Amino acid sequence: MRTGIILKSISGFYTVRSDGELIVCKARGRLRVENTTPLVGDHVEITINDDGTGAIDRLLPRKNAFVRPPIANLDQLVIIVAAVIPVTDPFLIDRMTAIAAQNGCEAVICINKSDLDQGDTLFETYTRCGFKTIRTSAETGEGIDELSAAVCGKISAFTGNSGVGKSSILNALEPDFNIQTADVSKKLGRGRHTTRHVELFTLANGAVVADTPGFSSFDTEAMEMAGKRELQNLFIEFEPFLGSCRYNDCAHIKERGCAVLDAVGDGVIPVSRHESYARLYEQLSRRNEWA
Ligand code: GDP
Ligand code: ZN
Repeated sequence: MRTGIILKSISGFYTVRSDGELIVCKARGRLRVENTTPLVGDHVEITINDDGTGAIDRLLPRKNAFVRPPIANLDQLVIIVAAVIPVTDPFLIDRMTAIAAQNGCEAVICINKSDLDQGDTLFETYTRCGFKTIRTSAETGEGIDELSAAVCGKISAFTGNSGVGKSSILNALEPDFNIQTADVSKKLGRGRHTTRHVELFTLANGAVVADTPGFSSFDTEAMEMAGKRELQNLFIEFEPFLGSCRYNDCAHIKERGCAVLDAVGDGVIPVSRHESYARLYEQLSRRNEWA
């Protein structure tokens, strides 16, 4: 019996990395009976057959699991944003940080195209909230070492609206990355942005990186499953103020004696973050009424 991690899943065949070796495995029927479909990112126990292929006997407990893209055990979401061509809507960023928080995943904010615009407002906003915030330029190489250090030893997924430089950043981190991903697209016979296929790649520094689609298709359903009362816990910078509002059931929208609103007024919580919170709260309220 050996353990490993699933790097790739295609039509019931799982590529598992175990002790530096890649083994193509099938899942035991028992797993299907238990209704546990292995996901890319799963830590698994395998047995090796005589012909060198393997069988997945058991999935080890998951830290988290996403539906879209289908991936387990993500340590962090690297949210690539830009202050210029295209300008990233802070609401998209804040929805992603909430999804990360909901899944016990760190969020790293990467402000790309720093050669064109340093993104001071974004940098200040997310640093103030306590996120690791890195300025990068795929063009000049600024910040690439810092980003490389931030993903080292972890499983990360990169997300970002189209055009912010996701592919360029991955390519700057690892010149082989695009060659590897282009290869996958060719095999599947479609472009990498139209495919639901997820694969984990290991960078030279040992970082494990998922090639995933952009913001639009990244598990927004997870957010919809959150209750509106839970939302306050998904904005990490609210944490010191929760429990200090006049009303126990304070929604932090416009209540009197709200400690969160006071912190926004004092400039401790960024206004744009609170606006995103209010917008998500409103969306979740409407959803809860239907349910
Ligand atoms: P993606 O859609 O997020 O994968 O974005 P791409 O990596 O395809 O980049 C979109 C465009 O932005 C391309 O023309 C890149 O050359 C350009 N680009 C990406 N990163 C940078 C950067 O740091 N600085 C500048 N000036 N241009 C960049
Ligand atoms: Zn409040």
